[in-house]
Order: sequence, then C-alpha cells, then structure tokens
Amino acid sequence: MTEWSDRHRRNGQAISFVPTMGFLHEGHLSLMKEGKLQGDKLVISIFVNPTQFGPGEDFESYPSDLERDFKLAEDIGVDVAFTPNKADFYPQGFDTFIDQEKLPNHLCGLSRSGHFQGVMTIVTKLFHVVNPDIAVFGEKDFQQLAIIRCMVKDLNFNIRIIGHHTIRESDGLAMSSRNAKLTPAQRTTGLCLISALKKAQNSLKNNETSSAAIIQNAVDFIYSHPDTEIDYIKICDPDTLDDVAVIDRPVVMAMAVKVGTTRLIDNMILNPDK
Ligand code: AMP
Repeated sequence: MTEWSDRHRRNGQAISFVPTMGFLHEGHLSLMKEGKLQGDKLVISIFVNPTQFGPGEDFESYPSDLERDFKLAEDIGVDVAFTPNKADFYPQGFDTFIDQEKLPNHLCGLSRSGHFQGVMTIVTKLFHVVNPDIAVFGEKDFQQLAIIRCMVKDLNFNIRIIGHHTIRESDGLAMSSRNAKLTPAQRTTGLCLISALKKAQNSLKNNETSSAAIIQNAVDFIYSHPDTEIDYIKICDPDTLDDVAVIDRPVVMAMAVKVGTTRLIDNMILNPDK
C-alpha cells in the first residue's frame, strides 16, 4: 500500500483517502465522490477495527459483504480498496495507543469507553500506511470528525481533513451500515432521531433558546416511540463539545438512541441566525 502511494505521489498526484468499516452505503459513496473531486487518486480502506468496539458491542455482528463493497468501490472509480487483516495490523505485542484528553469525554465517548482511543489509533495507523494528502470523514460521526481534526493538528499530520455532510434516506434516516440490523418496525421508529432534531430546529425558530427545554422535548418525543432507549441528547459547542445552555450562536445537537439493540446516532447544527 505504502509503495503504491509513494509511487503516485512521486508522479505529483494527490492521494485522497476514505477510511470505512465496509458494508458500504450512499453515505460512504458520497465521501468517495468528494475524495475523487479533491485528489487525483482515491484509496479507501475497509476494516472493522476491533479496538474501537467495547465488550458487549457489535464487533462480532457488524454487517459485512466485501464482494458487494468491491463492486461499489469499482463503480465509483476507487483506485485501491485496502483491506488490512486483523493479525497483520494488530500483531502479538501490539501495545501503543493514541488518545486525547478532552474531546473523547463527551457524547459517545462517555458510554463507549476506549472507543475513540481505538478510532485514533486505527486512523493513525491507516494514515501512516496509506500516506494520503487528503482524508474525508462524515459529519454524521460529528465527534469523530472533531477528534480527528484535533489529532491531525496536534500531531502534525500533513493531511487535509475534509468533513462531508450527512447523507440520508429519502425519509430522513441518516444512512448507516447498522440500519441493516433494524426490523421494519424499528426502521420506522429510527426516524424519531431526525424528527426530534427537526423539532428542535423549529423550536429555535420559534425563539426557544433554552437547551434544557429543547432537550426535554426531544427526550419526551423519543420516548413516545416503542423500543427506544436514549444514551444521550446534548446541545453543545461544535468545536469543544462542551454543553451550551442558551443557544445564542451555532451549536450542534447530537444524540445516540438505541432502537431495539441497534444504537443509532444523528446530529444537526442549530443556528439561531437562520
Ligand atoms: P463507518 O464505515 O461507519 O466507519 O464510516 C466510514 C465513514 O463514513 C466515516 O467518516 C463516517 O462518518 C462516514 N459516514 C457514515 N455514514 C454516513 C452518512 N450517512 N453520511 C455521510 N458520511 C457517513
């Protein structure tokens, strides 16, 4: 992989990179199209990274269909689909992890202990092996994008990070590989995340600027749906992820909700000036 990248960089070509865990959907493909626009060559990785899953999470049952993924990647014009194997990437004796002090102590990081350490470590490894000029990440994983941006800045990676807006199904459900695990009834229930975010946006338009009031409405709304369990609903500063009590500037409203056993996340920027 590294030789391939070095060869193309020597020819003056900019390499774009989109890391994924596979079971590709339109969200991933949209990141890839962005990568193609921004660079000359496009590399994706497909790797279900064990170190970002905690005990009792869905590492074992994470959906996968490599043949289908390769076909989709080829159709989009991906130059390399890099699929490291677990034993090569984490050999016996592997003992080095990347971590951050502040950003992981919010949102998903609070209930998924060690998750972002696993993400930062795998992204660092992939960055070193793929050696890209540009990397594209989705805003759907808002906290992940903030953490990667901070890591790249702090550790002097010479890589331009591009955030890409969330791609949704026609009814608004944020695309996710995990949506495949939802039963038809749960798939309908899953719409409560985007509906709650839109309601929050409407409340703000009607001059409700109290985060506590908006969050309480969202909690009540989500719990009016069957089979839901809220992990968190937060309104926070888009850079620091600290809670914001009064919405007097653009903030991000982010949530994680279990529908049945499937954990869904979504977020939206709420802007009081719009
Ligand atoms: P994953 O395979 O879930 O690790 O996601 C790989 C990349 O795709 C990450 O940067 C995600 O943020 C991004 N991504 C996942 N779902 C979406 C979506 N619905 N819209 C845009 N980007 C997404």
